[in-house]
Amino acid sequence: MNCEQAIKLIDGYLDGELDPIASQAIEQHLRECHNCDQAYKTHGSLIRAIGNATPYFKASAELRERIQSSLRKETTGDPVRNGVRGAQVLFHKREREPRSILSETPWNWLGLAAALIFAAIIIFNVVPRLQRPGADQFLATQLIASHVRSLMANHLTDVASSDQHTVKPWLDAKLDFAPPVVDLSSDGFPLVGGRLDYLDNRPVAALIYQRRKHFINLFVWPTGADTARSTKAMTREGYQLLHWKDSDFNYWAVSDVNEKELQEFKQLFEQQVVPH
Ligand SMILES: [Zn+2]
Repeated sequence: MNCEQAIKLIDGYLDGELDPIASQAIEQHLRECHNCDQAYKTHGSLIRAIGNATPYFKASAELRERIQSSLRKETTGDPVRNGVRGAQVLFHKREREPRSILSETPWNWLGLAAALIFAAIIIFNVVPRLQRPGADQFLATQLIASHVRSLMANHLTDVASSDQHTVKPWLDAKLDFAPPVVDLSSDGFPLVGGRLDYLDNRPVAALIYQRRKHFINLFVWPTGADTARSTKAMTREGYQLLHWKDSDFNYWAVSDVNEKELQEFKQLFEQQVVPH
């Protein structure tokens, strides 16, 4: 007998419903197998606990007699079971129904409980640490990648010009919106040019400004439904990101200049943009 067979028969064994050969086989297995013996003992105490908590009525002699005679009629070819045993079996069966749900598969219940606890541990401990990236964080990653790519691939500009009156019409013609382009060379942030880029699932304008040896990519695209003004600064992977919004456009400035200089750049840019 293997464990699977033993577990299936434990219920019947506890209820004294097995034939002698099966009983002997399971007894032998329980002596040899610690796990099944544990299951048997747990199972037995569970049955006793439920049995103690359940009201139990002894059948009256009259009822036994009635059942005895009806059983005799039903099982004419089977004189082995006497009436008393038959009555016990009947009552036993009725009592067994709710218990069998709990007791038939103790391994599965334990397994399920363990799985649930394990899942809870995962959810409460591991998931917050993974910090599923929010929309902003995902966008920030894209922005940095775009900034780095523009510097690495020698593709900083599509239109290289320090003249805003050259850069702006070029971008206007390529995009379905007209991004503001301002000249900040007198403030130490000369315009280098413009570029088309693709971010946040849409074509965007990239304006490139220079600060000494550093470049600033300023990504511009129209605001969506949410036109509330907001500002956000973050440092990621050694790059400064500064986000702001006006009534028309989203701005994301990405650079390796320091945060103070990027804030200064933003203020100068905003001062130059003519409000609509
Ligand atoms: Zn076993």
